[in-house]
Amino acid sequence: MKCRVCGAQANIRLPQYNSALCAGDFIAFFEKRVSGTITKYGLLSEQDRALVAVSGGKDSLSLWHLLDRLGFSADGIYIDLGIKEYSHISLVKTRQMADRLHRRLYSFSFSEAFSKGVKELARMMKRPPCSLCGTIKRYVMNRACTDYGYSVLATGHNLDDEASALLGNMLHWKEEYLWKKGVVLEAERGLAKKVKPFFLCSEKEAAAYALLNNIDYIYDECPYSLGAKTLLYKSLLNRVEDVSPATKIAFLKGYLKRAKAEGSRGQEQEEKGSCSVCGYPSYGEQCNFCRLMTKFGSGPAVRFDVYVPSEP
Ligand SMILES: [Zn+2]
Ligand SMILES: [Zn+2]
Repeated sequence: MKCRVCGAQANIRLPQYNSALCAGDFIAFFEKRVSGTITKYGLLSEQDRALVAVSGGKDSLSLWHLLDRLGFSADGIYIDLGIKEYSHISLVKTRQMADRLHRRLYSFSFSEAFSKGVKELARMMKRPPCSLCGTIKRYVMNRACTDYGYSVLATGHNLDDEASALLGNMLHWKEEYLWKKGVVLEAERGLAKKVKPFFLCSEKEAAAYALLNNIDYIYDECPYSLGAKTLLYKSLLNRVEDVSPATKIAFLKGYLKRAKAEGSRGQEQEEKGSCSVCGYPSYGEQCNFCRLMTKFGSGPAVRFDVYVPSEP
């Protein structure tokens, strides 16, 4: 198997592009592809100050690294869920990247902010830990953007994440979510613009990019994340992909076209009122996050730690 660009021994096969590439040419190819997505869908401009949501996993750390390589100004935001070993290791990995890029890392500590852990809080609220965690993450990341003046929040969601979520929504005809997942959600009413530069890149490509750039990431997924169904949908789509390469990309590209026609911003769109505490869009008198803080918060303020790496 030879690299399609230089003819040397290929390191990675990319059947979805009918191609195989050596390490160096893969890195160039991947960066060009992401850069193409950023331009095509208007995700970021040179004037933007971006925050990358980093978990310590391969996708988010690769994204942070890549945005820096492309010359975008991007700092990191990390949410410490207080899940012992997992959170400790992921914080170490995100700090390593902050040091490597000489970029700031903001972090929010769940256990400092709340009197209960994720698991206990989820049980009391009668919600799955993942969904509660999602509410908190969305809020806190947006809050970091507005508090510190960042115009865009970038997340590492990849092709496999998006395609499996879309398949799940379609199988159950969850129309309330169906047209609300995009590669970009524009800023609106106190909510920062949100972008997913890896939307059209597979998990495998992001992992290869991390490996080839010596990015040290945490292999484990969050112990509460990834329901059995998500894993099932991912493996189903991979089986289809094996037989018919590029199906996942076609699935998402077709979706983007139709979603654009449906024209919709996001989940927040229906939240017409404003939270009486923080002013963000909200269904009720207080937004979900402020309700949680009022009930279980250990203090009134949302506080971030700012890690500033020393100069090179
Ligand atoms: Zn090559
Ligand atoms: Zn609020």
